[in-house]
Amino acid sequence: MRNNDLKPETLSAQALGHVDETTGAVTPPIHLSTTFERNADNSYPKGFVYTRSENPTYDVAEDLLARLENGAGGLIFSAGMSAAVAPFMTLRPGDHVLAPTVMYWALRSWLLDFTAQWNIEIDFFDVNKPESATDLVRPGNTKLVWIETPANPLWDCLDIAWFAQLSHDSGARLCVDSTAASPVLSRPIDHGADLVMHSATKYLNGHSDVLGGALIAAKADEWWDDIRRVRTAHGMVMGPFEAWLLLRGMRTLHLRVRKASENAMTIAEHFHNHPKVASVLYPGLPTHATHDVAAKQMEDGFGGMLSLRIDGGEKAAIKTAANLELIHRATSLGGVESLVEHRASIEGKGTPVPADLLRFSIGIEDVGDLIQDLEQALLAV
Ligand code: PLP
Repeated sequence: MRNNDLKPETLSAQALGHVDETTGAVTPPIHLSTTFERNADNSYPKGFVYTRSENPTYDVAEDLLARLENGAGGLIFSAGMSAAVAPFMTLRPGDHVLAPTVMYWALRSWLLDFTAQWNIEIDFFDVNKPESATDLVRPGNTKLVWIETPANPLWDCLDIAWFAQLSHDSGARLCVDSTAASPVLSRPIDHGADLVMHSATKYLNGHSDVLGGALIAAKADEWWDDIRRVRTAHGMVMGPFEAWLLLRGMRTLHLRVRKASENAMTIAEHFHNHPKVASVLYPGLPTHATHDVAAKQMEDGFGGMLSLRIDGGEKAAIKTAANLELIHRATSLGGVESLVEHRASIEGKGTPVPADLLRFSIGIEDVGDLIQDLEQALLAV
């Protein structure tokens, strides 16, 4: 069968069908070398020069990501944050960017510092009124529109196609942080996005043992070359071992994400009318404010992330987390094990996150065990 006809599950499971030419190994080798030899004629015969720019171990993971997202190219980074900041680092003083009020908090605070320092203008549109972005976009001056969907930690979904249209009509590019969805559930480029970003630390790797990031571009144009130059110049690359682990994680991506989504949906439905839960925030529930948007641009499930607002406020929320015996109290998301976090505590002063909110990254455990743990934790508050 031709590689182009294969389904994403097959491409992931077989790491694009890679078989090592020298040994016949069916898993791609790790190339730890930081440097590559020139020919006597001074050329680089294989195209590899130095690992801060490129390394064969990155290539398989990057090619797979590009295929999964239907993009023209992929780049992996040392962290989700380095992947997220790279497109902003291609901007010039005086350029304008647009971002949502609710987004990954560390990126939001970096953006505030970076734009102030480099004289880049920024506006934040209200995620509850996304159409307000129309009044904030500046045709010709807005260069980048950033959205995150589903967005941490309320899981509001923004309409990618609508934002792509708005961006393109104004001469801007749209970048989507699709970390919570993963390419299994949503492919933003199919909806018009120019760039997709992932914290590869989360679902792509999936085992809470690699820090990484990824960008996938709709077009391999000059802007994409600029982004690659930013990565090389700042050494924002992963180590080859981490790149290899990431590729290994991606081989089970579809199984993991589907199981986590199924578990999260079951948990959301179970606790939806629970006497100790004020509300369940999960885009898969028809009662979620942005369920229709989610249903339009996500397929095969709504992801493993959900938040519970606990009856009784902040104290009750923190006590519920403390009572959990199976679900670990830890930051991050997208691993095979379930995690819980009181987000307002980690985000600190000025966070838009309600104090009674617990964020859950639902893993691939038996869902009955997870429900039992949550039930006993809520009962003991
Ligand atoms: N984007 C989202 C949605 C995230 O949740 C995170 C991390 O939690 C990041 C970006 C940053 O990724 P990293 O921690 O890999 O730098």
